[in-house]
Amino acid sequence: MRKILEHAMGEARKEIAFGETASYIPELGQVDKNQLGVCIYTSDGKKENIGDTDIRFTIQSISKVITLAVALERCGFYKVFEKVGMEPSGDAFNSLVKLDLSSNYPYNPMINSGAIAIASYLTPIISFKKMLEITRKLCMDEQITLNADVYLSEMSHISRNKAIAYLLESKGIIPGGSVQESLDFYVRMCSLNVTAESLANFGLVLAQGGIHPKTGEKLLDKEIVRVVKTIMLTCGMYDGSGEFAVHVGIPSKSGVGGGILSVVDKKMGIGIFGPALDGKGNSIAGRYILKSLSKELNLHMFA
Ligand code: GLN
Repeated sequence: MRKILEHAMGEARKEIAFGETASYIPELGQVDKNQLGVCIYTSDGKKENIGDTDIRFTIQSISKVITLAVALERCGFYKVFEKVGMEPSGDAFNSLVKLDLSSNYPYNPMINSGAIAIASYLTPIISFKKMLEITRKLCMDEQITLNADVYLSEMSHISRNKAIAYLLESKGIIPGGSVQESLDFYVRMCSLNVTAESLANFGLVLAQGGIHPKTGEKLLDKEIVRVVKTIMLTCGMYDGSGEFAVHVGIPSKSGVGGGILSVVDKKMGIGIFGPALDGKGNSIAGRYILKSLSKELNLHMFA
């Protein structure tokens, strides 16, 4: 496995030149785009770390997976999907276009509009401190903290997400008066500092149906994990999800910090950090690595 991974990483590095960091959040524009790390954690307890797997970066949209799981647990399936759909949007993650059509709800919880809506359901019932605690547990990483620089940077360039939130409020999808606190919760969750290894740990928890791989503790309900993994498969790579499913076939979630969380059901969790992004906001080297791992290790869910 290590050899295959090393080879894939070598090839993936060539892709970095074609990607860019997410400079629409200025602090993310400062990150060195040549960093690359992959961690694979398998259900037999083995862990492979290659490259920059201990460098901290912000989780960004991968936090949408955690927020969704917690919302399903605390608010229930009906409430979560009452006004947020389960369909791929086919649009950019921060698009407003279809949301403005009078009948439309956010397409799914993995794009900004869906995640901000879900944040509004959670803010009255759970604190950010508790969310941080849950994130640390799911990622088996007590060192996860809020990256204050990225948080402040995003909060001062929040116009687009603010526009989305006000549109959600105007359509009655989020409660009146909840825009500010929903955005704050959403951006805080996006600004948590993880590593490729923390993502691999979380990936293995999901691969094992919510069970902690070391202690056997049930961290998430199996049924919730099933819903989350399915939505990662269909919507996790934004408007690149369909092509990714064909070529890779591994439920995954990306973030503009350069992270990708991947779940090979029952077998392994994969965490990747590669901050050079493609035009859709997915790690360009990360995508390449997952495609070659899927092929070389026969990981496609329909292989
Ligand atoms: N915080 C980012 C935003 O709202 C998250 C987007 C992402 O990772 N795709 O724009």
